[in-house]
Amino acid sequence: MNRLTEGLKAAGLRLTPQRVAICKILEESKDHPTALMIYHQLLPQFPTLSLATVYKTLNVLKSMGLVHALGDAGDGAEHFDADLTPHINLVCTKCHRVVDFDEARIQEIQRAVEQRSGYVIQGARIVYYGLCPQCRANGSLKESA
Ligand SMILES: [Zn+2]
Repeated sequence: MNRLTEGLKAAGLRLTPQRVAICKILEESKDHPTALMIYHQLLPQFPTLSLATVYKTLNVLKSMGLVHALGDAGDGAEHFDADLTPHINLVCTKCHRVVDFDEARIQEIQRAVEQRSGYVIQGARIVYYGLCPQCRANGSLKESA
Protein backbone atom coordinates (compact mmCIF):
# COMPACT_ATOMS: atom_id res chain seq x y z
CA MET A 1 0.00 0.00 0.00
CA ASN A 2 1.15 3.50 -0.66
CA ARG A 3 0.89 6.74 1.26
CA LEU A 4 -2.41 7.85 -0.26
CA THR A 5 -4.30 4.56 0.02
CA GLU A 6 -3.06 4.19 3.60
CA GLY A 7 -4.47 7.64 4.29
CA LEU A 8 -7.89 6.72 2.86
CA LYS A 9 -7.96 3.59 4.99
CA ALA A 10 -7.03 5.60 8.09
CA ALA A 11 -9.92 7.96 7.28
CA GLY A 12 -12.27 4.99 7.37
CA LEU A 13 -12.87 4.74 3.62
CA ARG A 14 -13.12 1.36 1.99
CA LEU A 15 -10.31 0.77 -0.50
CA THR A 16 -12.37 0.14 -3.59
CA PRO A 17 -10.54 -0.44 -6.90
CA GLN A 18 -11.80 2.99 -8.01
CA ARG A 19 -10.28 4.77 -5.02
CA VAL A 20 -7.00 2.88 -5.42
CA ALA A 21 -6.93 3.92 -9.09
CA ILE A 22 -7.54 7.57 -8.15
CA CYS A 23 -4.59 7.43 -5.74
CA LYS A 24 -2.41 5.83 -8.41
CA ILE A 25 -3.15 8.62 -10.89
CA LEU A 26 -2.35 11.24 -8.27
CA GLU A 27 0.96 9.62 -7.41
CA GLU A 28 2.09 8.95 -10.95
CA SER A 29 0.71 11.96 -12.76
CA LYS A 30 2.88 14.95 -13.53
CA ASP A 31 -0.12 16.81 -14.94
CA HIS A 32 -1.59 18.10 -11.66
CA PRO A 33 -4.99 16.73 -12.59
CA THR A 34 -8.40 18.15 -11.74
CA ALA A 35 -11.25 15.93 -10.53
CA LEU A 36 -12.69 15.96 -14.03
CA MET A 37 -9.37 14.94 -15.62
CA ILE A 38 -9.11 11.99 -13.22
CA TYR A 39 -12.72 11.05 -13.89
CA HIS A 40 -12.26 11.02 -17.67
CA GLN A 41 -9.00 9.11 -17.40
CA LEU A 42 -10.62 6.35 -15.32
CA LEU A 43 -13.99 6.12 -17.03
CA PRO A 44 -12.90 3.58 -19.71
CA GLN A 45 -11.60 1.31 -16.95
CA PHE A 46 -14.47 1.94 -14.49
CA PRO A 47 -17.67 2.74 -16.46
CA THR A 48 -19.69 2.96 -13.22
CA LEU A 49 -17.36 5.52 -11.62
CA SER A 50 -19.13 8.69 -10.50
CA LEU A 51 -17.63 12.16 -10.41
CA ALA A 52 -18.86 12.40 -6.81
CA THR A 53 -16.58 9.51 -5.85
CA VAL A 54 -13.61 11.32 -7.37
CA TYR A 55 -14.47 14.54 -5.54
CA LYS A 56 -15.02 12.77 -2.25
CA THR A 57 -11.74 10.87 -2.49
CA LEU A 58 -9.85 14.05 -3.36
CA ASN A 59 -11.46 15.96 -0.50
CA VAL A 60 -10.50 13.29 2.03
CA LEU A 61 -6.91 13.22 0.76
CA LYS A 62 -6.80 17.00 0.85
CA SER A 63 -8.21 17.24 4.37
CA MET A 64 -5.57 14.75 5.55
CA GLY A 65 -2.84 16.85 3.98
CA LEU A 66 -1.84 14.03 1.63
CA VAL A 67 -2.39 16.04 -1.53
CA HIS A 68 -2.25 19.75 -2.10
CA ALA A 69 -5.04 21.62 -3.79
CA LEU A 70 -3.30 24.13 -6.02
CA GLY A 71 -6.35 26.19 -6.82
CA ASP A 72 -7.46 26.79 -10.35
CA ALA A 73 -5.21 27.34 -13.33
CA GLY A 74 -7.45 29.95 -14.90
CA ASP A 75 -9.86 27.17 -15.88
CA GLY A 76 -12.08 27.41 -12.79
CA ALA A 77 -11.14 23.90 -11.64
CA GLU A 78 -9.03 22.87 -8.69
CA HIS A 79 -5.77 21.13 -9.59
CA PHE A 80 -4.18 18.58 -7.28
CA ASP A 81 -0.58 17.69 -6.54
CA ALA A 82 0.57 14.64 -4.57
CA ASP A 83 4.18 15.82 -4.56
CA LEU A 84 4.52 17.56 -1.21
CA THR A 85 8.23 18.34 -1.43
CA PRO A 86 8.89 22.05 -1.77
CA HIS A 87 8.76 22.98 -5.43
CA ILE A 88 7.22 25.66 -7.60
CA ASN A 89 4.13 24.97 -9.66
CA LEU A 90 4.07 27.02 -12.82
CA VAL A 91 0.54 27.65 -14.02
CA CYS A 92 -0.21 28.83 -17.54
CA THR A 93 -3.31 30.99 -17.39
CA LYS A 94 -3.96 30.46 -21.10
CA CYS A 95 -3.63 26.70 -21.75
CA HIS A 96 -4.15 25.84 -18.04
CA ARG A 97 -1.21 23.47 -17.88
CA VAL A 98 0.53 23.11 -14.52
CA VAL A 99 4.17 22.05 -14.51
CA ASP A 100 6.70 21.47 -11.74
CA PHE A 101 9.72 23.66 -11.47
CA ASP A 102 12.53 22.57 -9.20
CA GLU A 103 14.44 25.36 -7.58
CA ALA A 104 16.93 24.41 -4.89
CA ARG A 105 16.61 27.77 -3.16
CA ILE A 106 12.99 26.95 -2.27
CA GLN A 107 14.33 24.32 0.12
CA GLU A 108 16.76 26.83 1.60
CA ILE A 109 13.86 29.22 2.15
CA GLN A 110 11.87 26.47 3.84
CA ARG A 111 14.76 25.75 6.23
CA ALA A 112 15.11 29.45 7.01
CA VAL A 113 11.36 29.72 7.69
CA GLU A 114 11.51 26.70 10.01
CA GLN A 115 14.46 28.12 11.94
CA ARG A 116 12.99 31.57 12.41
CA SER A 117 9.34 30.59 12.99
CA GLY A 118 9.82 27.46 15.08
CA TYR A 119 7.36 25.65 12.80
CA VAL A 120 7.89 22.18 11.43
CA ILE A 121 6.86 22.72 7.83
CA GLN A 122 4.81 19.80 6.54
CA GLY A 123 4.42 20.98 3.02
CA ALA A 124 4.62 23.92 0.72
CA ARG A 125 2.43 25.27 -2.01
CA ILE A 126 4.05 27.77 -4.29
CA VAL A 127 2.17 28.69 -7.43
CA TYR A 128 3.43 31.12 -10.05
CA TYR A 129 0.98 32.28 -12.70
CA GLY A 130 1.83 33.37 -16.20
CA LEU A 131 2.07 32.47 -19.84
CA CYS A 132 4.04 29.38 -20.84
CA PRO A 133 6.64 29.69 -23.63
CA GLN A 134 4.29 28.05 -26.14
CA CYS A 135 1.40 30.37 -25.37
CA ARG A 136 3.75 33.36 -25.43
CA ALA A 137 4.94 32.35 -28.90
CA ASN A 138 1.36 31.81 -30.14
CA GLY A 139 0.20 35.08 -28.60
CA SER A 140 2.90 37.23 -30.15
CA LEU A 141 2.19 35.72 -33.58
CA LYS A 142 -1.47 36.61 -33.28
CA GLU A 143 -0.83 40.07 -31.88
CA SER A 144 1.53 41.05 -34.69
CA ALA A 145 -0.84 39.76 -37.37
ZN1 LIG B 1 0.27 27.77 -22.00
